[in-house]
Amino acid sequence: MAEFSLDKALAAISERFTPEMREEQRKLTRERIGRLDPNSRAAKRRRFKRHETIVLAQIAELKPLPDSELKQVRMKNLLNRLAEALSEQGDFAGAIAVSQSPDHIAEFTSIKDAIKGSREITCDCPVVRARVGRDIVALNPRFKVKTIETREGPRSLIRCANCGAMNVK
Ligand SMILES: [Zn+2]
Repeated sequence: MAEFSLDKALAAISERFTPEMREEQRKLTRERIGRLDPNSRAAKRRRFKRHETIVLAQIAELKPLPDSELKQVRMKNLLNRLAEALSEQGDFAGAIAVSQSPDHIAEFTSIKDAIKGSREITCDCPVVRARVGRDIVALNPRFKVKTIETREGPRSLIRCANCGAMNVK
């Protein structure tokens, strides 16, 4: 299992936050968010960008405080929230670098691999035919988990319920 190091995670984000970022974000939010459909992709991205900025600001405030157990817990929490905000914007590598949760890292890593991989189904699990009442229905084990952000725009994350293989299309 990966060794967790707060220092490593903090080093990964040291270049991300500048105080100007917060002001810029406030301005963008004031100017534009009112004009966006709240369910639109742009509004969603902006919301997670805002989360990112807020969490980065909180990390910057927490960082110089004296070390304590409470500080460690709060820092881990903030880093996990940052990882979520990054993953929702399609930055899975960034999310992996800062997350402090083995489960989330495993999930971000498989999604990142799925994005890099083939658009085609990568497993041979058969479509199962089952009788439902008088009908025979085909049950495809591969289903859409959710829509994820990628560099090329939103894509469907497909997972096989049988073997766990994932692909993105
Ligand atoms: Zn499969």
